[in-house]
Amino acid sequence: MPNAAHHQHFASDNYAGICPEALHWLLQANAGGHQPAYGDDDWTQRASDALRELFQTDCDVYFVFNGTAANSLALAAMCQSYHAVICTPVAHVETDECGGPEFFSNGSKLLVAESTSPAARRGKLTPEAVDTLVTKRHDIHYPKPKVVSITQATELGTVYTVEEVRAIAAMAKRHHLRLHMDGARFANAVAHLGCHPSDITWRAGVDVLCFGGTKNGLPVGEAVVFFDRELSQDFAWRVKQAGQLASKMRFISAPWLGMLEGDTWLRHARHANAMAQRLYAAIRDVAGVQVLHPPEANAVFAQLPRHAIDALHAKGWRFYEFIADGGCRLMCAWDTTPEAVDAFAADIAAVCAQG
Ligand SMILES: *Cc1c(COP(=O)(O)O)cnc(C)c1O
Repeated sequence: MPNAAHHQHFASDNYAGICPEALHWLLQANAGGHQPAYGDDDWTQRASDALRELFQTDCDVYFVFNGTAANSLALAAMCQSYHAVICTPVAHVETDECGGPEFFSNGSKLLVAESTSPAARRGKLTPEAVDTLVTKRHDIHYPKPKVVSITQATELGTVYTVEEVRAIAAMAKRHHLRLHMDGARFANAVAHLGCHPSDITWRAGVDVLCFGGTKNGLPVGEAVVFFDRELSQDFAWRVKQAGQLASKMRFISAPWLGMLEGDTWLRHARHANAMAQRLYAAIRDVAGVQVLHPPEANAVFAQLPRHAIDALHAKGWRFYEFIADGGCRLMCAWDTTPEAVDAFAADIAAVCAQG
């Protein structure tokens, strides 16, 4: 166990605090005195421009409080109420947003692509799965597929390659569907791939990206990035109606400057990914531990014996065990220390040995 004052957990990257770079710009924005409200301030303009510069395109940018709102409102902007959104069974929009996408779209249905393919077991959607769902029915009694939603990095800690995103986009285009990307851990995906952020978004065919900041060191806030600006026409009104328009928006937007300046966002994501690799290396050969697949982003997924899970919880470690029957998600953050990883790994080895 690490000492209590610096206790780190492996439950989620949103357990971590604010990174110094984001905090710096938060304080700068506060020191800047009065500024226009509701996003008409200089900080929001600068952060939006910085995102346009990052993506090397004239995209439309909106800041909202959290990922559920970003996804729900983005999907609502892409759908009519009679449309459907294709996603995986493990998609955050399907399992962890309390029906937000359906609610904000006035009833658009999520169509889950059930599959036992190797890609599906690693949390990925495939072009074939999209094709199967779209071509299954064409009649008026079935909701009309309109959007494909993929999560990058996925909910199972894997990362779509540039080619995989392109192939899904090509299939979507063939069926006249839009492509949405839930990028709650977009930074971790880009860090893993080593590509330019545009390569797995608009250059690959993504229409709207929900770019996560919270899990990578922001205090609060995600950016909804519209590469297809047609889709964002009325978005400001949606954001306001949903209670997501921050009156002091500069405190959501200014910290993004700290993330984007000098590629801080990538440095933090690379670190979190490296900590997941360190944890993986330390526990992969421990008897009783069964890692589901090598980590690509910032989480290790592993089966642990029940007694080991209980013993780790009793020692004060927090982590999720939401994958059926002992599959645990061990998540690293931008500030996870090598010492915390080593201490956690040592405890895992110790409790497994006690079996
Ligand atoms: C964390 C997360 C979100 C956003 O969740 P909020 O708690 O609403 O900010 C969205 N998608 C994925 C895949 C996530 O892990």
